[in-house]
Amino acid sequence: MNSSISLIREIDALLPQTQCGLCGHRDGCLPYAKSIAEGEEANKCVPGGQPVADALANLLNRSPLTAESSVWPVQTDGRPQRMKAIIREEECIGCTKCISACPVDAIIGSGKLMHTILTDLCTGCELCIPPCPVDCIDLVEDTQALPNEQQRAAEQNDLRQRYYSHIQREEKRRSHRKGPVVRAEIDTQLFAQFSQVLDELPSIELIEKPKEAVLTDAKTTIELAKIRTQIKKLEKQLGVREDAKKRLQLEELQQQLMQLQEV
Ligand code: SF4
Ligand code: SF4
Ligand code: SF4
Repeated sequence: MNSSISLIREIDALLPQTQCGLCGHRDGCLPYAKSIAEGEEANKCVPGGQPVADALANLLNRSPLTAESSVWPVQTDGRPQRMKAIIREEECIGCTKCISACPVDAIIGSGKLMHTILTDLCTGCELCIPPCPVDCIDLVEDTQALPNEQQRAAEQNDLRQRYYSHIQREEKRRSHRKGPVVRAEIDTQLFAQFSQVLDELPSIELIEKPKEAVLTDAKTTIELAKIRTQIKKLEKQLGVREDAKKRLQLEELQQQLMQLQEV
């Protein structure tokens, strides 16, 4: 077991830690590292490009393979163009959905307030874009100088740490979550096992979800669906003719929706 942990760790150290899932492993770099150790082809990391595919082939003593292509042009270091996300802050409604979607906690803000992205931390993984209900997040080219090897290793270590802290926080929130989940649940078992044998990573504890909470979730989801239907109906009616009573009712329902969605 220890030898496989140490191989997975060596493979993981070469992966960018963007946690984007573009390799086909939704939960990020570590599950892909594990799968490579078990025999999967090592050329699927899109942000890593050819340099990562080659480094992995070298580590594993396998034949070099052409890396999966990216939609972005190739930079001078052979990797795809680094990108950053930016929020059009004047359009943000402060729903907080992007916060739990960001694997490296690069977004700050709180309920009903405008959100902003800490561009130094953003990896351009794009995971915050689909959950945004008003589509106010753009991707732009990262114009900063490319990191050298040492800076890249430090950046990857930091992103890995941030992701493990994010997983632990999401795991705790999930155990008493109300309302819908914006990102599929992370399969935390592998991370918990890995983090507990390595001192440098935040240790991840698995949390048993109480049965009661599952029931509450189902009830809350039904409640949310009902409120959304009522809101849509009222918005339609108010679009045709203004009515003070209905306007008030709409505001109350929107308030209720916000409260139920808070986690
Ligand atoms: S950075 Fe590479 S290995 Fe990590 S999740 Fe994205 S595609 Fe997969
Ligand atoms: S802000 Fe968006 S694009 Fe940037 S790291 Fe977080 S989820 Fe990825
Ligand atoms: S998901 Fe979009 S609207 Fe909601 S807080 Fe994030 S940027 Fe703002």
